[in-house]
Amino acid sequence: MKQIQALSLFSGGLDSILATRLIMEQGIEVLAIQFVTPFFNYTILEDIEGHRQKMMEKYGIHVQVVDISKGYLQLLHNPAHGFGKNFNPCIDCKIMMFTRAKAMLNEYGASFLISGEVLGQRPMSQRRDTMNVVERDSGTRTILLRPLCAQLMQETEVEKQGLVDRSKLLKMTGRSRTPQLALAAQYGITDFPAPAGGCILADPILSRRIKSMYAADSKTPHAEITVIDIRSLLFGRQFMLPGGGWLILGRDEQENIRLTTLAQEEDAVLLMEDWPGPTAVVKKINKYQSNGTELERDLRYAAGLVVRYGRKQPERKNTGEVSCTLAGEKRLICVEALQDEVYAEWNVQ
Ligand code: SF4
Repeated sequence: MKQIQALSLFSGGLDSILATRLIMEQGIEVLAIQFVTPFFNYTILEDIEGHRQKMMEKYGIHVQVVDISKGYLQLLHNPAHGFGKNFNPCIDCKIMMFTRAKAMLNEYGASFLISGEVLGQRPMSQRRDTMNVVERDSGTRTILLRPLCAQLMQETEVEKQGLVDRSKLLKMTGRSRTPQLALAAQYGITDFPAPAGGCILADPILSRRIKSMYAADSKTPHAEITVIDIRSLLFGRQFMLPGGGWLILGRDEQENIRLTTLAQEEDAVLLMEDWPGPTAVVKKINKYQSNGTELERDLRYAAGLVVRYGRKQPERKNTGEVSCTLAGEKRLICVEALQDEVYAEWNVQ
């Protein structure tokens, strides 16, 4: 790459692709910064180099991947500007990303930031007043350019200084995607992600699970919520057991493997070794359940659910031997399948 002049806040969605390309068209060298958290873009971490190559091949854009998971988990405790319709703290999310990107300017010798925001496109985070709040609280007012709607905004320092030609910027507004699709076609871009599909915090179902982990009565102290906790919340059958144990059951082979991979020392792992069925993990049982009787009862309930969701047994047999591994020790729990009415209310949606 030549000398980088601008950093682009790159979500990987069409708007950020177009904003980046629009500035590159002016002969300006842009590095796209793609932030990753357990809530969006996380799978990129499995193959960062492959992802960067893909972005270059598909869109001609240099991408740098930056993992901000740790700070993001903290942000969710109490975002200053609150949440959107679900558990999405969009304004604080943007403030955080803009602040991080600003701090990276020096490192790359770049002088300004660009974002793919379009005035009026999103109800919460792309209104003029909230865009102003984001600029103000991230300290980016003088260095942030929004190429897709720049002609509807006040002229920025970047334009005044002649670093960017304002006449070649756009005035996109509102929710219609037609102008974006036309510009994408002009650039020969045909393959891009669906709009607003990537953030789990805006998903009505999954965000509820995350919200419950951050609730005041959550067993896990907020400061101790980890990336693994969040990843564990996003799949499988989830239950809150009567003693407070957080149980996850795999729904298929793939989820069983995933659960085993995410299991930690403080978790109990249960499965039937001689009969097909789910793997179950009771998260952090050793850490947060000090009452031995309740812990034992929760483990028996968990074992009962493993049998319940295991393959149907012959001749009305409904008991099973479930191995339970906790803190390196393995033992067998012989239980009956739990009846549906017993656990109906433990289900976490
Ligand atoms: S939808 Fe998700 S990624 Fe986008 S601004 Fe909101 S919280 Fe951040």
